[in-house]
Amino acid sequence: MKRHINIPVFIPHKGCPNDCVFCNQKKISGYADVPGIDEIRSIIESYVSTKKPSDSYEIAFFGGSFTGLPPAEQQRYLKLAEDYVGEGLVDGIRLSTRPDYIDEKTLLFLKQFPVKVIELGIQSLDNEVLMRSRRGYTADTALKACRMVKDMGFMLGVQVMIGLPADTLEKSIKTTKMLIAEKPDMARIYPTLVIRGTELAAEYAAGRYRPLTVSEAVSWCEKIIPLFEDAGVKILRIGLQGSDEIREGGEVLAGPVHPAFGELVYSRIWLNRITDEIERVKEAETKNIVIHVPQNSVSAVIGQKRENIGILKERYGFLSVHVKGDLKGDMKERNLLIEFCG
Ligand code: SF4
Repeated sequence: MKRHINIPVFIPHKGCPNDCVFCNQKKISGYADVPGIDEIRSIIESYVSTKKPSDSYEIAFFGGSFTGLPPAEQQRYLKLAEDYVGEGLVDGIRLSTRPDYIDEKTLLFLKQFPVKVIELGIQSLDNEVLMRSRRGYTADTALKACRMVKDMGFMLGVQVMIGLPADTLEKSIKTTKMLIAEKPDMARIYPTLVIRGTELAAEYAAGRYRPLTVSEAVSWCEKIIPLFEDAGVKILRIGLQGSDEIREGGEVLAGPVHPAFGELVYSRIWLNRITDEIERVKEAETKNIVIHVPQNSVSAVIGQKRENIGILKERYGFLSVHVKGDLKGDMKERNLLIEFCG
C-alpha cells in the first residue's frame, strides 16, 4: 500500500509582527532556534533512509508563516528541498502560511520550486472571530488567497480553528461551507486550546474567554467533518496539537484536550451514520443486530469504552450489538451494512 509521509520541518516565525491571541510563538521566539541547513538535512535524511520505493514523501515546512520569512531564507530552504526532489528521494514540497502572506509575486516565486501543496491558516471566515482573535486579515483576504493558490495550480490545504473568541457552531459551519466553495484539497481542524503565555490565557484567567469542552468540540466536529468529506476534501488532522502555528510542546492550560480526540469524533460520526440507517430500516421487534463495516473502522464504530454499543442498546432496546470488520472499503467511505436478527 502506498504511504504518504510528510517530513516535518518546523520553522518558527522569528519576529512575527502579528499578535494572534492563541499563539505563544512571540514568547518562545526569543529562544526557539530556527533549524540550520545541516539540521534540516539530517531530519530529511533520517526519513528518506528508510523509504520504500512505493512511499511518497513530501518535505513539509510547517510553522505557519513560511512566506513571511525573508525571501533569501525561503530560497535557501526551498533550494535544499528541491535538491532532494531532483535526486528522486522526495516527491515534493508543502508549506503552510498565512492568507495575507499570499500574493501573485509570492506564488510565482514558489512556482520556481517543486512546491505542490500550500496550506493556509484560515482559522475562520467570520470577521468578528478574526478580529477578536487578532488575526490581522478579513475573510475577503483569506478567500482571495484560496483562489490565487488554486488558480496558480497548487493544491490547497485549509486549516480551521473552532472555538476561537466569538465563534459559534453556526459560524464554524458557515466557514466550512464557504471554504468548500473554494474547492480545497485537504483540511486540518483544530479545536482552540489555551496555551500558557498567550493573550487567550490572560482572557481565560480573567473569565472573558471560555474554551470549548471536549464534548462540545466533538459535537462541532461531527457536523463539520462530514461536510468537508462529502465535498471530497481530505481531512489530514483533527486537533489536538493546536495550530501548526503554535509550537508543539506549548503548555495547554485549558481547552478540549483528549488523547484520542480524532477517534472520539469519528466514533460519533459513525454513531450518526448507524443511527440513520437503523431509523431507515429498523423493524419494530428487532432485538439483535450485527453491524458490518471495514476492518479499520471497527474500533471507531464500537467507540471508546464501548460507548456507541451502550448508546445503541439503550436507544433501541437491542439485547446484542455485534460489530464485524468484514466489509471492503476505506474508513472514510464509511461502508455499512446492518443485519437485523430478530
Ligand atoms: S499564529 Fe502565526 S501569525 Fe499569529 S502570532 Fe503566531 S506566528 Fe504570528
